[in-house]
Amino acid sequence: MAKQSITLLGATGSIGASTLDVLSCNPERFEVFALTANTQWEKLFELVIKFRPLWAVCYDDTSSEQLQKAIGEAGLSTRVASGLTGLQMVASDPAVDTVVAAIVGAAGLLPTLSAVQTGKKIMLANKEALVMAGDFFMQQVIKHRALLLPVDSEHNALFQCLPNHHYKNGVSVNWCQLGVEKLVLTASGGPFLNKSLEDLQQITPDQACAHPNWRMGRKISVDSATLMNKGLEVIEASYLYGISENYIDVLVHPQSIIHSMVSYKDGSVIAELGNPDMRTPIAHVLAWPDRISSGVEPLDMVMNNRLDFSAPDLVKFPCLALAYRALQLGGTAPAIINAANEVAVAAFLQQDIAFLQIAEVIEMTLKQLDITSAEVLESILLADKQARQVATDIIQSFNEKTEILTGSLKVD
Ligand code: NAD
Ligand code: MG
Repeated sequence: MAKQSITLLGATGSIGASTLDVLSCNPERFEVFALTANTQWEKLFELVIKFRPLWAVCYDDTSSEQLQKAIGEAGLSTRVASGLTGLQMVASDPAVDTVVAAIVGAAGLLPTLSAVQTGKKIMLANKEALVMAGDFFMQQVIKHRALLLPVDSEHNALFQCLPNHHYKNGVSVNWCQLGVEKLVLTASGGPFLNKSLEDLQQITPDQACAHPNWRMGRKISVDSATLMNKGLEVIEASYLYGISENYIDVLVHPQSIIHSMVSYKDGSVIAELGNPDMRTPIAHVLAWPDRISSGVEPLDMVMNNRLDFSAPDLVKFPCLALAYRALQLGGTAPAIINAANEVAVAAFLQQDIAFLQIAEVIEMTLKQLDITSAEVLESILLADKQARQVATDIIQSFNEKTEILTGSLKVD
């Protein structure tokens, strides 16, 4: 069997590490074509030594230069590229079969689209790309006959529970005719599931990043704590499976053993279960339709003999309701909330705003901007840019207000 040639966008991140782990378990099936990072060239250099890819790319130019120097001194043959062009080049090279889209945030959209537009198999972890570009993204998948497979654990679970011999990869399927009644996304509820609204006022970035079940990058960890991650996932599921928000429910399930489920007209509910470890969905889509080992321990149902469920609290976690609203509004609304969220989460991580202000920034940004059609890439990128500016201004106005209240504003 010819080896599957892989480009891993976001190799130095949490999904990157899990992917490399699965690849290491199955060296006879895969070879690494390219590994990429943003600024973490030293970490990327270590991966180059271990995996010997043909290409290594840092988005940041200075980091690429340092990587190039280290690779040269070590006498390795890996070639180095940089910037968006470098990322797009390794995502679209004819020698590549599969692109793992594991860059965090909107920065992943253009490299992922390059893979789509050259008809690759895309393993999508970077949900923000699909959330912001929605229908446009899916149309490109169809047009270029790409194969889009979900890595996000909930969407991967849905993929396994849907009658996927009918999966048309972006071509609208009438799931209701196939007996599907609801897609049920499970949510752990994050680290603050049992905290009161009052407690949430004093949350620090480290508390928000301490997820009870999953080890993830800092941005998605904060998204999980606000439930915006679940909101983005509702939007992701809607575009991926061509199904409206009325058919997508969210259920809080703190143990994260059921990764999502599909409820059918005849009363059957099909769920996918496993330990909460991203190597399972990664291995599933790497080998699909085959099965390979992932390095994940088998699920011990005796040890995990309790599965709890509750409805999400939309008052404590307004980001989830905002995401449903953006999906209903359509057009550029999902791109707007995604960009506002990225700006607000970055500000929270830098301790410029409080935890509860993340939702306020998103809501105010959505109110201030006109929603336009999102049929072409230019309008999506424009909405993203405008939303970032508006969200930044809102955060600045919050901070000016705080400075006035605390008397710390210096007026000459
Ligand atoms: P992370 O922060 O650990 O890693 C992000 C990666 O993206 C790093 O390799 C970083 O170098 C790269 N990157 C960041 N900004 C970049 C830029 N401007 N240009 C190029 N590369 C850039 O994040 P993660 O937790 O691995 O998440 C990655 C994606 O997968 C996110 O979209 C997240 O929502 C999704 N996801 C993650 C998990 C998880 O368990 N970690 C689960 C489901 C989905
Ligand atoms: Mg998920």
